Amino acid sequence: MAGIYLHIPFCKQKCSYCDFHFSTTFEVYRSQMVDALCREIDLVQKDADFEGITSIETIYFGGGTPSILNKNELKQLLDAIHSQFDVNSTAEITLEANPDDISTESVNQWQELGINRLSIGIQSFRESDLRWMNRAHSVEEGLNCIHIAQAAGITNLSVDLIYGLPELTLNEWMDHVSRVIELGIQHVSAYCLTVEEKTSLHHMVSQQKIRPASDDEQHDQFLALVDTMEQNGYEQYEISNFAKAGFRAVHNSNYWKRIPYIGIGPSAHSFHLQKRRWNVANNRAYMKAIHEEKGWFEIEQLDNRATWNELLLTGLRTVEGVRLNELYELDAFTTEDEQQLASFAEQGWLSRNNECIALTKQGRLMADHIASSLFH
Ligand code: SF4
Repeated sequence: MAGIYLHIPFCKQKCSYCDFHFSTTFEVYRSQMVDALCREIDLVQKDADFEGITSIETIYFGGGTPSILNKNELKQLLDAIHSQFDVNSTAEITLEANPDDISTESVNQWQELGINRLSIGIQSFRESDLRWMNRAHSVEEGLNCIHIAQAAGITNLSVDLIYGLPELTLNEWMDHVSRVIELGIQHVSAYCLTVEEKTSLHHMVSQQKIRPASDDEQHDQFLALVDTMEQNGYEQYEISNFAKAGFRAVHNSNYWKRIPYIGIGPSAHSFHLQKRRWNVANNRAYMKAIHEEKGWFEIEQLDNRATWNELLLTGLRTVEGVRLNELYELDAFTTEDEQQLASFAEQGWLSRNNECIALTKQGRLMADHIASSLFH
C-alpha cells in the first residue's frame, strides 16, 4: 500500500507569503512538463528504491496549482499511473484547486477522471487579506466555488484557511471559521501564517508595511479554532487538520503513519524502506534530468536517530501521538528524556500512558518545541 504525490509546479501568480516551488511562466513548456512527469512515473515503477510498491491507495495532485492543468493533461498523468501501478478502486484521489479555476464544467471533468476529493485554497474571507496576499480570487469567488463544487456532487471537500493574519481580529477569524462550518465542508486545514524568507511578505514585514500577528494573537485564534471545530463535530486529528467523521485525508494521514509514498515532479519528496528522496526543485533542470534518466533526485538513508526524530516531529502532531514501542525499537529513553516527559506532563502539555505519548490542546501550541526537546 502506498500513495503517489504529483507536484504541479505552475501558478498563475505568486502569492506574497508562499515559498513553495512553482513557476508563473510555464505556457511554453507545460506539455513538456506533463510528459516529464509521466516519464518519471514510468521510471520510478522500475526503480529499486520503490521495490515492492505495486498497489496505490491515494493519489494527490499538489503544487503549485494543479487545477491549472486541463482535462487532457490530468488524464495523461492518471493514465500513466494506472498503466504502471494497481490503483485501488476506492482510492482517494485529491486535487488541490484554486477558486478561480473552479466552474461546474471543470468540476464535472475532474469527477469524470475519478478525482473524488477537492482541496480548495480559500485562505481568507476578507477581501483586504486576499489583496495583500496577491491571491488570484475574491471573497465572492471563494464562496461561489464552494457552492459550485457542492452542487456538482463533490462530497469530500476540504478548504485551507490561514490564521494569524496581520490585523485579523479574533472575531473576524471566528467568522471565517463559522462560514466553513455553516457551508457543511467536511474537512478544514487551518495554518498559521509564517513569514518565510525571500517572500514578498517578508519584504513587506521588514519594511514595516505589514505587522504580523503577535504570538498571543496566534495562540488565541488557534485555541478558539480548536474549541469551535470540536463543538461542531470536527475531529482535530492533526494539529492543522480537522475532519468530520469518515473524512480524514487518507493521503496526508499516511505521511504521518510513515506509509510509503512516491513523489513525482520537481521538488517532490518520496519515502520508502527508511529512505527519503527529493527531486530537484527547478523545472528546467528536472525536465532535462528526466530526459537523460539520471540525476533528478537526491536520497538519504534514515538511521535510527533520524527515524526517532521524525517519529516525534510528525507523530506528536497527530491525535494518536507516538507509540512508545516504535520509539523503544529505535533507541532507549535516557534519564534526560524521562525528565523532559515528566516536566511536559506536569505543565499540562503532554499525556502519557503505557502505549503512547500525545500532546494536550495546550501542548499543541508548542508541538515543534516539545518534539525537538526530545530529539536524539
Ligand atoms: S497558488 Fe498556492 S502554490 Fe501558488 S503561489 Fe499561491 S500559495 Fe503558492
